[in-house]
Amino acid sequence: MSKLIAGNWKMNGSLAANQALVEAIATGLAAAGPTKCAVALCAPALYLDQISRQIKALAQQNIAGAAIDLGAQDISVHASGAYTGEVSGAMLKEFGVRYAIVGHSERRQYHGESDAVVSLKAKAALAHGITPIVCVGETLEQREAGKTEEVVKRQLAAVIHDNGHCISEIVVAYEPVWAIGTGKTATPEMAQAVHAVLRAQLKAATAHPERVKILYGGSMNAANAAELLAQGDIDGGLIGGASLKAPDFLKIIAAAQ
Ligand code: PEP
Repeated sequence: MSKLIAGNWKMNGSLAANQALVEAIATGLAAAGPTKCAVALCAPALYLDQISRQIKALAQQNIAGAAIDLGAQDISVHASGAYTGEVSGAMLKEFGVRYAIVGHSERRQYHGESDAVVSLKAKAALAHGITPIVCVGETLEQREAGKTEEVVKRQLAAVIHDNGHCISEIVVAYEPVWAIGTGKTATPEMAQAVHAVLRAQLKAATAHPERVKILYGGSMNAANAAELLAQGDIDGGLIGGASLKAPDFLKIIAAAQ
């Protein structure tokens, strides 16, 4: 299956910085020729419109804009109404958003998002034709206690339970919490082992498991991407820090081709 490389900008960026970053990525992609993998930029909600317009303008100049999809970093479980600060699936869709990250460990940790909430967010995304990138992953403590498999399976099971046959339309991202933003990457073997567990769980849950991409995330960078992406069950990457530097992000995309 073709790979997906998605950048998670987190709460970074500015109008000027985004403009320069998107231009550098699009120009780099155009120079490299036809892109064989999918590329997405998951930006802060406020900037989605800016990036969407810029991508369209670049595409009109034949500068690879069409090869870049937009992603949000979160989505409300609610359709509309008195939910101050929330952004709905319908709103995201209006701005051409293709993906929404749900259940990132930073949201689970700092915003108390439970498996049940993450699952409802995946459902809200699917209801609006947005592909949820469902993040699962264990903490260091859980890994050291031998609970990695149990934790990731529980997190994915919640989403499978609530989303039934639509589960073949999701993307899963395995992100060991101890590897996010720390510079510590899971070895390719460690990552592959967890991906195989998730793949088996998806096979048991849907008639079309081959449609589901399982991304690795956690300090993936230009130097380690090729080895991680060469693993049989690693279908792409969710990239934090390295997605903010165009040359690094472009090298990861090149490694995925
Ligand atoms: C992430 O935020 O999803 C992530 C993987 O971050 P980093 O690449 O910086 O570890």
